[in-house]
Amino acid sequence: MNLIFFGPPGGGKGTQARLLAARREFPQISTGDILRETIAAGTALGHEARRYMDAGDLVPDAVMIGLIAERLDQPDARGGFTLDGFPRTLHQAQALERLLASMERAIDRAVEFRIDEETVMRRLSGRRVCRAGGHIYHVEFAPPQREGICDHDGSPLRQRDDDQPEVIRRRMEVYRREIPSVLEFYRVRGLLVALDAAGDEETVYARLEEALAAA
Ligand SMILES: [Zn+2]
Repeated sequence: MNLIFFGPPGGGKGTQARLLAARREFPQISTGDILRETIAAGTALGHEARRYMDAGDLVPDAVMIGLIAERLDQPDARGGFTLDGFPRTLHQAQALERLLASMERAIDRAVEFRIDEETVMRRLSGRRVCRAGGHIYHVEFAPPQREGICDHDGSPLRQRDDDQPEVIRRRMEVYRREIPSVLEFYRVRGLLVALDAAGDEETVYARLEEALAAA
């Protein structure tokens, strides 16, 4: 199956895409990973993408689509994939549809992960990461034994910049502004399913499998 996941930052879609990849053997294709990988591989498109990023600019849609085309053509993605983080705008959704048509492929399901924003805010703003080993804690749901100190290596815990409440609010605003038109694009094509994304990851995964089985 060819899938796209949508959801607010911290809504758990990345976790679900990884679970699905591990259990159904089709890869999670996240635009962040593609950018990191192609830049590391030093391809022509990778160099081009890097020029924009080094200048602090967004990578243009045409470049992003080129990178996605290269990724979808790799053997592991031919039997199916989950796109995560793309498309974010209507223009990108249209470009993706044209790309897939040119490859004689199509999206089978667009899954919207729905979760209320206060839940996301609590989840993300309570997260703490250790400086030494990247161990992850949560002040409320998974606290370390000693406040502010990693249980594994005793190093201090910190909050990632991305998890600061102002940053989360800004990312949510961008999501709320852009995503309705993208969801509508898939809804009119009969491809959109909405999923309750509250709860632990196995509960949400069971809902996801159910939604895909009904597809
Ligand atoms: Zn640690």
